[in-house]
Amino acid sequence: MSKLENKFTKAAYDPLDARHHGAIHVPIYQNSLFAFPSYEQFDEAMKAQQNHHIYSRGNNPTVQYLEMKLADLEEAESAKCFASGMAAISSAIMSVVSQGDHVICVNQAYGPTKEFLGSYMSRFGVETTFINGSSNEEWRSAVRPNTKLFYLESPTTLYFELQDLKHCAELAHSIGAVTIIDNTWATPCFQNPTTLGIDLVVHSITKYIGGHSDCIGGVVLGSKELVDRIANNEYMLLGGIMTPQSAALVAKGIRTLPLRMQRHEESGLYVAEHIAKLSFVTRVNHPGFSSHPQHELGRRQMSGASSLFSFLSNESTERMKDWANRLKYFKIGVSWGGFESLVTVNRHTNDDKAGNKPVAIVRLYVGIEDPRELVADIEQAWEQLKD
Ligand SMILES: *Cc1c(COP(=O)(O)O)cnc(C)c1O
Repeated sequence: MSKLENKFTKAAYDPLDARHHGAIHVPIYQNSLFAFPSYEQFDEAMKAQQNHHIYSRGNNPTVQYLEMKLADLEEAESAKCFASGMAAISSAIMSVVSQGDHVICVNQAYGPTKEFLGSYMSRFGVETTFINGSSNEEWRSAVRPNTKLFYLESPTTLYFELQDLKHCAELAHSIGAVTIIDNTWATPCFQNPTTLGIDLVVHSITKYIGGHSDCIGGVVLGSKELVDRIANNEYMLLGGIMTPQSAALVAKGIRTLPLRMQRHEESGLYVAEHIAKLSFVTRVNHPGFSSHPQHELGRRQMSGASSLFSFLSNESTERMKDWANRLKYFKIGVSWGGFESLVTVNRHTNDDKAGNKPVAIVRLYVGIEDPRELVADIEQAWEQLKD
C-alpha cells in the first residue's frame, strides 16, 4: 500500500461515537462552557483539564475531534488546533525558547515567521541566526552553546529548497535542542516529519488541509508531552483558539484531503513540465522534478509533491505582471491550497547559480481545474502580450 493510499481510510473513517447518536459528521459544539452534575465531578475534571470539556478556550469537542483526525494523518501522538497558522507557529516557538536562547531558522521561511523570530522575539532576549539550510554543514556551523531551537520549513514556498530533516533532528538532539518544522507545503499526505525525528510539526490549515479557501486555521503536532505543554500554556494563556465552526469546516475538508492531493500532485507536475518549455521561463523550481538539485533528498523524506511551485524568468516583473493580468484561470492573490489556481509575481533576489540573471520569480498554485486548460491559459496570456 502506498503512503497516500494509507491516508484515504484515515480521512474517511470514524468509529461510531455513542455520544453523537450515530451522527456521521461530528456535531458543532457551539458553546463556551460545560456544566457538571456534581461538584465532585467538576473537581475531578479540573484536576486533568486536557482530558475533560470544561471551557471552550481549553478543549471543545468539535475542535478535539479535528485534532484527533490530524494527529492520525500526520502520524503524531497529539495535536492542538489554533486560530491560524501563525498562532500555531508563534505558540510552538514560545513553548521552546526562553530569554537568552538562540534559534537557527531557514532564511526562506514564511515571512511573518521570520519577523516573529527575527524582530519580535529579540525583544525578549531570544536571538535568531538565519541560514539557507539546504546544506548540513550550514546547520553545524550555526550552532552555539545556547542554541535551543532549529526551525525548519521544507520545502520553502518561493524557491522550494529542502532541508535534510533526519540530519537536522539528529544534530539538534545531540546538543539538546528542539526541532520545529512548517510542513504546510507537503501536507500530512506527503511528509510525516515526526517519523524522521522532528519534535514538533506545524501547519497552516488555511492552505491544503482546509482546502476550500473558506477558513483560517493552524495546528501543532508532536508528542503528547510537548503538545500538552503548549495546550496548558500558550493555548490557554494567549488564547489563539480554533472556533468550533472552523473545526467543522476543516473536518469536512479533511475527508477529501488525500483525493485532492493526488489530483494536485498530478496537475502540478503536468503544468510545471509544460511551462518549462516556454520561451519566457528560464528555470522551474519544483521539488517533484528530477532536475531539482535536491530531488534525491526529496524522494527520501517525501512521498509526493504538492502543486505550489515557481519559475524564474528573464522578463521584467512589470511584463510578468502584465501577463498575469491576462490569465483567466489563475487569479492574482496570496495564499494557496484551495480549489482555485493562483499566481503571484515577485522580484528575484536569490543568487542564480546558472550564471544568467533572471529578474522575475513567478509563483503558481495549481488548483483542481483541468490542467490542460491551465496550460492553454498560460500560453494564450503570453500570446496576447506579444501583440
Ligand atoms: C500561510 C502560511 C503560514 C501562515 O498561516 P496562516 O494560517 O495564514 O496564519 C505559515 N507557513 C506557511 C508555509 C504558509 O504558507
